Amino acid sequence: MTTQTNVQRVPFVDLKAQYDLIADEVNEAIANVLQRTDFILGQDVRLLEEEFAEWCGVKHAVGVDSGTSALEMALRAFEIGAGDEVITAANTFIATTLAISYTGAKPVLVDIDPKTYTLDPNRVEDAITARTKAIMPVHLYGQTADMDPIIEIAERHNLIVIEDAAQAHGARYKSKRAGSLGHAAAFSFYPGKNMGAYGDGGMVVTDDDKILDNLHMLRNYGQRVKYHHESLGYNHRLDTMQAAILRVKLKYMDEWNAARREHAEQYTELLNARDIVTPSIANYAEHIWHLYVIRVAYRDDLLKYLADHNIYAGMHYPVPIHLQKAYADLGYQQGDFPISEKYADQILSLPMYAELTPEMIEYVATTIKEFLAQQGADLTES
Ligand SMILES: *Cc1c(COP(=O)(O)O)cnc(C)c1O
Repeated sequence: MTTQTNVQRVPFVDLKAQYDLIADEVNEAIANVLQRTDFILGQDVRLLEEEFAEWCGVKHAVGVDSGTSALEMALRAFEIGAGDEVITAANTFIATTLAISYTGAKPVLVDIDPKTYTLDPNRVEDAITARTKAIMPVHLYGQTADMDPIIEIAERHNLIVIEDAAQAHGARYKSKRAGSLGHAAAFSFYPGKNMGAYGDGGMVVTDDDKILDNLHMLRNYGQRVKYHHESLGYNHRLDTMQAAILRVKLKYMDEWNAARREHAEQYTELLNARDIVTPSIANYAEHIWHLYVIRVAYRDDLLKYLADHNIYAGMHYPVPIHLQKAYADLGYQQGDFPISEKYADQILSLPMYAELTPEMIEYVATTIKEFLAQQGADLTES
């Protein structure tokens, strides 16, 4: 076999490639909404909620206008707010902690497990105080956090568990889907997520009937009965148009996640080298590969080298939450979460989406190895 390739360019994601495969169905779904004009809380919202809940293995789902709203509405539905503390991971997207902050509660950070990069259950208990109300594990990159020990701690301390499943549509912990593991969970339908809308969108799922009722009230101006407002609620509804598009995509989710899994296997096989740390899959996990994240020395140089070869990689995330300027008032310092800090300088997210081809993955891997051969970079010694 020759290493000659005709691959010219590998984008980080390719939403157009996916649209081309489902264009007829999506266009028809949009046209149907236009004909019905049920733009707000229309029939596709209700149907998507039913179908998504069933797919996750939960009783209820409530469509909202973003993943950030989903997290915030979930917290508020449990009446978490000012004076409360919510424990989450130091390495996450800032929306996780923004949602906590919006409620008036305080995010309390915990370092990550060095293998899975998710909330380390062994460090949770030290972060619990008299004000702690909830734990928000983040199923980062498409792999769930280690939920059994987290739930065990929560039960012992009478805490709510809200999953941030924004990167984990369809992922499994043991045999159960992300979303069915805690008291409630939040999903994002940001376009680049595994299940992406053509705009913003999100979903809260729960088995709890009372929380369902609170969510319906909160997302729709704080009313259960029209024009009778019992709380200062929000306009955080999912658009019918987005729901119609998402119903088309839900049918393909298992297939697309399986394709990502194959791509991840190919990457891992090709990137088996001593100066690259490839992702580890926990024995409890069925990973859905929202992101394929490696660690390397000279990360910034590699990122640039790849871009010079028309390969577009990313960093998730280059600055941990406690070192963000926005969170200076939490009082954390450099050194507080050493694993998150160390990884922030080494992580690199490679192109990952269902429509990648084996040739593209080979081109990415070959280019990375080419760079490392030039550097002699050895992460095992750093
Ligand atoms: C994307 C994301 C969110 C926020 O979702 P939006 O739909 O962009 O508001 C929250 N948490 C995590 C971990 C995410 O990746």
